Amino acid sequence: MHSGKTNFIGGKWVQAQDGQTFESLNPARTAEVIGRYARSWQADVEAAVTAAAAAYPAWRRIPAPVRGATLFRMGQLLEREKERLARQMVEEMGKVLVEARGDVQEAIDMAYYIAAFGRMPNGSVVPSERAEMFCSAQRMPVGVVGLITPWNFPIAIPSWKMFPALLAGNTVVLKPAEDTPGLAVSFVELLVEAGVPSGVVNLVTGFGAEAGAALVESAGVSTISFTGSTETGRLIAGRCGQLMKRVSCELGGKNAIVVMDDANIELAIKGALWSAFGTAGQRCTAASRLIVHRDVKRRFRDELVDRASALRMGAGIDPKAQIGPVINRKQLERIHRYVGIGVAEGAKTLTGGRVLDEGAFGDGCFYAPTVLDDMTLSMRVAQEEIFGPVTGIIEVGSLEEALAAANSTQYGLSLSLYTQNVTSAFRAIQELEAGIVYINLPTSGAEIQLPFGGVKNTGNGHREAGWMAMDYCTEWKSIYVNYAESEELVRAQIDTQVA
Ligand code: ADP
Repeated sequence: MHSGKTNFIGGKWVQAQDGQTFESLNPARTAEVIGRYARSWQADVEAAVTAAAAAYPAWRRIPAPVRGATLFRMGQLLEREKERLARQMVEEMGKVLVEARGDVQEAIDMAYYIAAFGRMPNGSVVPSERAEMFCSAQRMPVGVVGLITPWNFPIAIPSWKMFPALLAGNTVVLKPAEDTPGLAVSFVELLVEAGVPSGVVNLVTGFGAEAGAALVESAGVSTISFTGSTETGRLIAGRCGQLMKRVSCELGGKNAIVVMDDANIELAIKGALWSAFGTAGQRCTAASRLIVHRDVKRRFRDELVDRASALRMGAGIDPKAQIGPVINRKQLERIHRYVGIGVAEGAKTLTGGRVLDEGAFGDGCFYAPTVLDDMTLSMRVAQEEIFGPVTGIIEVGSLEEALAAANSTQYGLSLSLYTQNVTSAFRAIQELEAGIVYINLPTSGAEIQLPFGGVKNTGNGHREAGWMAMDYCTEWKSIYVNYAESEELVRAQIDTQVA
């Protein structure tokens, strides 16, 4: 068990300066303390930022293919340690083992994908209106990048943010979620083994309002990348605006699956079960709304409810468990409160709607997979992110009504449509207000070589992953080189006339 020496600053594992620690618990058995981690404050964050700033000049001068090779080694180490990390994730975060392996696999994929960027074009050469003039624009690193990450993808999300930042020549300070500090420690240990030089990657464990806020405020940090709740994102983006920092936010969602009357219903039911209840509904892309055509609603609903109530709950390490616990007791209570709000607003609970407290379940944070019926657009449960294994059915009578319902929230991350009609499919692709649209697939299932992110209040216009992965952590520099032998000054727009 870690003794609190979990901050990694300038190449050394250290305690918080005042020696304070906090505990990380196993959500399947909350009496089990997994480890004790440094509770960091401003002084710790400043030390980490200073170390990152000191390491920056040397790291940015290392050729990009060499930085890429370091990330390639990181990919190999993640592969070697995949099973160990997955088991650690089950213990610390609660998701079931197969999903935990998928989380690590995402980081492996990202490492290899971004490593290759080290040898890819890094800018453009463009024509000049002047003779004997070379004009180009090139990506440049931004300096020290602060990463603030959530607990639901505790290996994948740090990798999405960190690998592009490092490849671009930036140095980083990571502040992981307080529920999953142990996985961040393991992740950084592997980066060290991969050969990342001292000070290039720094880690401060601790709480959002303490260490996270200090990272946002630190004058040495030029860019913040944040994934978490819309409420916290609004706060961070606001502060970054005032401080003139670059900030990229990945925030909440209220994703929906639309099931049309011509859908393959069996496929739609399987997709709905996975999207609504996979990771106990704690994915940014979880489907918490099922918008179903009235002609197929009864069949879809009855079958969905039967299968949802048959899902096997259990600790993620149990190979028979399909749904693990939710992250902590506070979240468990919040989910249950939301179901109560839905029922008070007129929704009907078809299955679930309760905290599991019998036997061993009582030791953990287990919530029964819940399907609500008669959900209407104005209900809070149809508008607000619940982040738990709760979904609700909204009945519609046409494609127009379905698309309007899907677009009726403040969020826009992932929307999906099940139909066999190509016209409906392409109408939906055009009309759905979301960063990610799926046809005949659930709302979860993003691949790392495509951009990930959302519109409306899900973000502030940035994307992670994909070929634009480095946009958030680079600045463009435009370069003009006069190679004429002439002694004449030739002024742009004045001495040249392009007819
Ligand atoms: P969730 O409620 O889903 O955990 P949060 O947005 O609260 O989402 O947390 C996501 C990440 O943001 C965590 O690492 C958390 O510690 C951090 N965080 C929370 N509040 C702040 C804040 N005021 N400033 C900076 N980081 C924060």
